[in-house]
Amino acid sequence: MPVIYFVVPCYNEEEVLPETNRRLLIKLNRLIDSGRADEKSRILYIDDGSRDKTWDIIMGFHSECESVCGLKLAHNAGHQNALLAGLMTAREHADCAISLDADLQDDIDVLDEFVDRYKEGCEVVYGVRNKRESDTFFKRFTAQGFYKFMKYLGVDIIYNHADYRLMGKNALNALQDYKEVNLFLRGIVPLIGYKSGVVYYNRSERLVGESKYPLKKMISFALDGITSFSVKPLRIISNLGILISLLSVVGILYALISYIAGVAVPGWTAIVASIWLIGGIQLLCIGVVGGYIGKIYSEVKSRPRYNIEEFLN
Ligand code: UDP
Ligand code: MG
Repeated sequence: MPVIYFVVPCYNEEEVLPETNRRLLIKLNRLIDSGRADEKSRILYIDDGSRDKTWDIIMGFHSECESVCGLKLAHNAGHQNALLAGLMTAREHADCAISLDADLQDDIDVLDEFVDRYKEGCEVVYGVRNKRESDTFFKRFTAQGFYKFMKYLGVDIIYNHADYRLMGKNALNALQDYKEVNLFLRGIVPLIGYKSGVVYYNRSERLVGESKYPLKKMISFALDGITSFSVKPLRIISNLGILISLLSVVGILYALISYIAGVAVPGWTAIVASIWLIGGIQLLCIGVVGGYIGKIYSEVKSRPRYNIEEFLN
């Protein structure tokens, strides 16, 4: 039976933690009783530099029950980093880790299915939202637009999957080799490869408290996702440069015709022609420079080029 770790990042979650812990413990014990999880399975809370009593509460859980452990980060490192800290800690003790939010918006009833998929041989199991009824129109619209835009940019991300996922030991070990600082886990995990499965669930409202992802954080997270995974914006600049250069031919012709027809003020033709030409050439050059920057950027990230799944020897 696999040792399973629930990895739960918490940032100022004092209001919701008691209820979350109660429910997760019941769930964990059920998983153990039904033979899906080993007795050494744990719930791991990561305190992401909270300023309220979150850590005291986690310490309380730990002293009450040995199935609960805690990890305290020195400062608010952000959701993705807190998650990574938890996963890397879990990796040392567990066969697989399941990441979920502290507010239990992700339905924990489907955890059995996660484990079943894992036992069927999936190294990664993605939790995918059925519907987004519980989200506001704004959040639904922006989030789904984001997923579509990412697809357009050529990023391999799972539609409507956030950070509710199971990762087996191999996947966790591979994850460790992705050294990038701008972490966007839902983009990296599909890159790891391995056999994966999907579990569908309904996302509910936050139990209590308010979202720790205000609009500002959401936008910077989305930008991180785009700029960490796609060099397509740079290519768009090059294409724009080519387009403007081509258009400049028309502009120059127009200026010349005006000159010949005698409707142009003296000097105008030369100025207009050079503005078009120089503008196009400049954009094209920025695009070329951008192409090299894109290369530097992928080299600097030094992501692993492959992950080995099996070796028959
Ligand atoms: N979180 C975190 N660090 C942060 C912000 C959020 O660890 O800087 C955690 C938070 O405690 C929660 C999860 O990330 O467990 C998701 O946050 P939230 O539920 O507020 O986001 P939303 O569901 O509104 O997108
Ligand atoms: Mg939430």
